[in-house]
Amino acid sequence: MERTYIGDLKSKIGEEVKINGWVDVRRDHGKLIFLDIRDASGKVQAVALPNHAEAHEICSKLRSEWVIEATAKVNKRPERMINKNEENGEIELEFLTVTVLNEATTPPFDISGDGMEIGEDSRLKYRYVDLRRVRLQKNIRSRHGITKFIRDYLSDRNFVEIETPILTKSTPEGARDYVVPSRLYHGKFYALPQSPQQYKQLLMASGFEKYFQIAKCFRDEDTRGDRQPEFTQMDLEMSFVNRENVMALIEALIIELVEGIFPEKQIQGKPFPRISYKESVEKYKTDRPDMRKDKDDKNLLAFCWVIDFPFFEKTDTGEWTFTHNPFSRAIPEHEDLVMKKEKISDILTTQYDIVLNGFEIGGGSIRNHKPEALEKVFEIMGFTTERIKQNFCHMLEALGSGTPPHGGIAFGLDRLVTLLLNEPNIREVIAFPKTGEGRDLMMDSPSEIDPKQLKELGIKI
Ligand code: ASP
Repeated sequence: MERTYIGDLKSKIGEEVKINGWVDVRRDHGKLIFLDIRDASGKVQAVALPNHAEAHEICSKLRSEWVIEATAKVNKRPERMINKNEENGEIELEFLTVTVLNEATTPPFDISGDGMEIGEDSRLKYRYVDLRRVRLQKNIRSRHGITKFIRDYLSDRNFVEIETPILTKSTPEGARDYVVPSRLYHGKFYALPQSPQQYKQLLMASGFEKYFQIAKCFRDEDTRGDRQPEFTQMDLEMSFVNRENVMALIEALIIELVEGIFPEKQIQGKPFPRISYKESVEKYKTDRPDMRKDKDDKNLLAFCWVIDFPFFEKTDTGEWTFTHNPFSRAIPEHEDLVMKKEKISDILTTQYDIVLNGFEIGGGSIRNHKPEALEKVFEIMGFTTERIKQNFCHMLEALGSGTPPHGGIAFGLDRLVTLLLNEPNIREVIAFPKTGEGRDLMMDSPSEIDPKQLKELGIKI
């Protein structure tokens, strides 16, 4: 007999079926043993009756989280037993045969509720059990739905999804790099990408014109509560575009995504309001303004764009550095100032940040596609010709090889999903997150490595 998914049982009333799944709860009334059985598609109540003696005997031993296979008759519940609030509340399985496929140790915690009352360390250590709870199953599946929507939306518009390397070179994107020692070249290191920024620009040099990627990014920052050492960006780049083109594409994508997948949500302003960095800081005291008119409404989404950021700011030690992205281009009126390296503090960048309910969910810019302009940016930051050559030779050469004007954006998928699902932090929408302190409690990482491995890498601790 072929397996029937629990979610499909409703259409099988009166039939005999085979199901696979987990024992969710068992209620033993002696003669009658009730069991809730769940699989990836749903949950159903089953009953073991004494007249199916063998099945009844096995069911008397079942415990929560045991994995079973069973054949059963799908019965309609008598009218007074129907539970309208339960999925499958109008049917009940009558077990005919039961096979135990695997026993389970006593679960480390209860998975029937939302789990918020359970210590997070324990939830993360036994994440594979934690993920069985309905809330997390729903979160991870919704995340898949959102990712799939984005993939389809962009693919339909001729974007090409292209993977870029994870083992790469240090990039100056503002955070500290994670580095990987090289076995073949002792003393040399790869860096994990903070974002695919340079690769996506190089793909514009290559003529792909429209690129996107659901990309893993790595930043070795001091962990602040709701950050992860690795996180996911929806990253894209386009050629022959201006700021308006990129913003229009993203705005349309987000509106369709929300209206298509979260019809209960209400978008406060369409088109998304725009505010300059200056005005935002003056009016809201932040560059991530929360524009919601009603902050108690959990279904209200107030998106806005923040634009006209200063290109440069002073570091603690008094040098100029970029506020967002060294590869950005100044707004057209200020390109001249970059070339002349004048009035640095006045220069505005084409950077656009997208903010949702007070959280920055994404950002991007139009880039400098002429090598001489990019070189000037590095000069403003005080880089010597030598250093520019050493770090960015490939970028300058690529820009000089026939690179079209281009720009793009990336948004943090974890944060977007968190906000759309009204979850309190990004760990709730990531299958295997690390703790706020950057540890993987389940795998026990970071961890020491074998002395032999260290030797191969030429590393002494
Ligand atoms: N690479 C940038 C970031 O990670 C986004 C972009 O400008 O496209 O913030």
